[in-house]
Amino acid sequence: MTAHQLILKQRAELLAVLCGGGSAEPLDCVLDLLLACEVLVWEDYLSIGVLPEEQKAGLCFGKECAVLGKNRPDTATLTLLADRPVLVRKLRDNIDGALNALLTTGCFTIKDCDAVQLPVYTPSQQVRRLLDQVRFKGETAAKTLLQYLEQTETTRPNPEDKENHLSANCLLYQKKLRSSVAAQSHSLSTYGGTGRFSLDDIYTDGLLEVMDGSGETLTLGLEDVVGPLGTLNEDADTVLVSGEAGSGKSTLLQRLHLLWAREALLTNTFLLFPFSCRKLNSEHRELSLKELLFLHCCWPDRGQDEVFQFILDHPNLALFTFDGLDEFKQGFTDEERHCCPTKQVPIPILLFNLLQGTLMKGVMKVATSRPQAVGPSLKHYLRKEVLLKGFSPGGIDCYVKKHHSDPAMAKRVIESLQANTVLLSLCHIPVFCWIVTKCHQELLGGQDVIPQTITDVYLLVLQHFFQRKSPQPQGVLGKAWLEEHLDTVLKLGQLALEGLEASCYVFSGYELQRNGLTEQDVSLGFLIYCNDLSVTDCKHYEFLHITLQCFFAALYVVLNRNSDRSTVSRLFQPQYRQLSGLSQRCLGHCIDSSVEEVESHVTETPNLQITAQFVSGLLSQRHHNLLLECCPIAVRERKVKQVVKSLSKGMQRHFKSIPRPVEGEKKSMHAMPSFVWLIKCIYEMQDNSIAQDTMAKLDVEHLKLTYCNIGPVECTALGYVLKYLRNPVGLQLDNNSVGDVGAEQLLPCLHICHSLYLRNNNISDEGIRKLLEKGMKCESFQKIALFNNNLTDACTQHFALLLKSKQNFLSLRLGNNNITSQGAEQLAEGLSYNQSLQFLGLWGNKIGDRGAEALAAALKNSTTLIWLSLVDNGVGSAGACALAKLISQSKTMEQLWLNKNCISREGVECLIEALKMNSSVKEVW
Ligand code: ADP
Repeated sequence: MTAHQLILKQRAELLAVLCGGGSAEPLDCVLDLLLACEVLVWEDYLSIGVLPEEQKAGLCFGKECAVLGKNRPDTATLTLLADRPVLVRKLRDNIDGALNALLTTGCFTIKDCDAVQLPVYTPSQQVRRLLDQVRFKGETAAKTLLQYLEQTETTRPNPEDKENHLSANCLLYQKKLRSSVAAQSHSLSTYGGTGRFSLDDIYTDGLLEVMDGSGETLTLGLEDVVGPLGTLNEDADTVLVSGEAGSGKSTLLQRLHLLWAREALLTNTFLLFPFSCRKLNSEHRELSLKELLFLHCCWPDRGQDEVFQFILDHPNLALFTFDGLDEFKQGFTDEERHCCPTKQVPIPILLFNLLQGTLMKGVMKVATSRPQAVGPSLKHYLRKEVLLKGFSPGGIDCYVKKHHSDPAMAKRVIESLQANTVLLSLCHIPVFCWIVTKCHQELLGGQDVIPQTITDVYLLVLQHFFQRKSPQPQGVLGKAWLEEHLDTVLKLGQLALEGLEASCYVFSGYELQRNGLTEQDVSLGFLIYCNDLSVTDCKHYEFLHITLQCFFAALYVVLNRNSDRSTVSRLFQPQYRQLSGLSQRCLGHCIDSSVEEVESHVTETPNLQITAQFVSGLLSQRHHNLLLECCPIAVRERKVKQVVKSLSKGMQRHFKSIPRPVEGEKKSMHAMPSFVWLIKCIYEMQDNSIAQDTMAKLDVEHLKLTYCNIGPVECTALGYVLKYLRNPVGLQLDNNSVGDVGAEQLLPCLHICHSLYLRNNNISDEGIRKLLEKGMKCESFQKIALFNNNLTDACTQHFALLLKSKQNFLSLRLGNNNITSQGAEQLAEGLSYNQSLQFLGLWGNKIGDRGAEALAAALKNSTTLIWLSLVDNGVGSAGACALAKLISQSKTMEQLWLNKNCISREGVECLIEALKMNSSVKEVW
């Protein structure tokens, strides 16, 4: 096919790529290239500039083909044209300097410079405007620009130059900002009252991942959050760190802040401005950017204007962070543009324009949020999205050791976690890890109920806090401890629930008083004083963590005798948003009438979902005794029924959404986001019959849960609930963070899985060992896909055993792991006894000739193998000749994939000879 035909054939796709997504950048890049190669003549290019965007890509360009390998152009103007794609990249961070050079030589006027630097343009667009203008001005301007470029390339930037130009006022401000940021980030709020830990003592690295342009997952260090790794959109300057509640987003930002303040990280950042969206919610004034920076972060004692001008002039030296975008009351929109740094506007407009880069283009921004709150309109402005996945198994150990200075105690806690893998899986979420570690005494002391659910864990922390303040010797709590503290729990619960309903997470002393909360109640420690709310003078409080606010809200829903009947069912409906009369009255200040209801429900849904999960847990039979005296049995029973009905209805909705299977395909369900949440609620109830009843109605052959943020906690719930499915399913969990602990949590449902897809899930040999040990005994289990995990030769013996003992196993895919010839030999040992395997994939391992020879010999007698992939395995001619023998004998093999190896002529000839004798093979790659 000619290039022309190819373009015509893909016209629709090309249009979508060039014009889709709302950014002009892809089309501009193509235009740069076409100009440089002289495919597009200048007049055509200019006419495209005045066409409406959607028509641009429909154009057919000037000359037929590019003149490749031509000589260097002989004028400066043509050089600029030929190098245009490179220049756009080179000049992007250097526009000021180039304009300065053009201005001082008289090639440009101030007006020219202003036209280039309109704030609505991205830096790349500014460079293109600059290049267009230079071409228009003629050869002298082009020469000046080339000279300037030559100079900047020979004079390496000296970092000290930057310092030399800084005025005393700016340096003074930096010092003040550093010390204010250091003071704010020195300790963790969850350790606030105890004074025992500084962030340095307890901070443990979390798992950070980013997906690059080709869909590969990269692991990042803290320093890479702001760095170039994983950048998807060069023109955007907002990095989003997303993760579930309690995964450690705020703590990660706090760590970044502290390290910057100490000059230990982000050393190129001169000024760092930290913002909390939670706190920005309380700012009701209209502010200019200058006021926002100085009022909310740090006030310059001298030379305010000068400092602000410095920030405007050097956006690349500043960094803004926004913690908890999901808690910002208004959902992100890009409808109102605002680019003037001195004009006062409402806070949402200021924030959204900063994130988009309309205001202060070039300032790097790091925002954190829960994944649910990030809609497509915001994604469009992201440089990259970094996923924070909580602690790794090693991280949990490390955290526990940091928490307990006594190594013997740390050891006991770690051992007790190893013995209770459900609890261990919870500890992957740092906030749960904090609670579990904090409540180690209750944990090790032998509770009546061994903690299995997040509700159990939060009841533990509730008990722990009451115990701490108990007047009894050694703080022993009686059986009826919840009843004894019912009054306080209800007051806190009411505040929490009303707050959630109104997206309100910060409470004034007055609001506490209204809810009847006394100093004594506050001293229990569930509420903490937020001291950096510099906007107002009066004291403000927040719950220790958002999940604790959800827990208290759930306690209120369950224990309040007067709650109206619809409270429970409303909580389980995702579209729920109805403020109770009460919350409108008490939290009037939190409710901004200008905020559209639809927008704000995005932020509430995840919190209400967590609350619903706790409600399910509290209504579990396990806590019947604890709640006995706190809530009349009839009321409790009614609520249980409501929850069960809501869960069942929710699941039904999912089942109904399953499309009819296309003929010849399996009946398949792609889970909606709330599916996992419903499963987690059912798990919290810990009632087999409920799980059984709900799952009995699910009739699918394939359940797809790819990219659903499934970690060990979710696996526990899946394992518990899916085990009740009536018929075997294919469970597809590709691209999640299951890990070894999660894999183990899936064991209870393995018997009902005919196929298990776990591509890209951080699973290692140990996880596989446990999976296969069980899998071997499961009659239905026939396929496993483990592409891109951390498997080595240490796991192949388990596969060999599986292949030997399971004569109905069909498909084994182990691509992109670290299996060498040794592993292949072990696999071969199992294969030689197997008469069922049809698909064997080892793409991207290192089995070499020896491995290929072993496999070929083992498969020689196979009467079932259809498909074999040894792509990219360092196989040479010896391996190919061995495989040729396999081909010549096989009556079933249809496809053999051998690309990206090092097979020479001899090997190829062997293969060709073998193919002559074979009648089944359809393709050899
Ligand atoms: P998020 O912002 O994602 O809701 P937080 O950062 O508030 O989560 O974390 C909740 C709690 O978990 C913290 O107060 C702290 O006790 C603990 N925690 C989170 N991340 C870490 C970490 N990296 N090292 C130590 N403790 C952490």
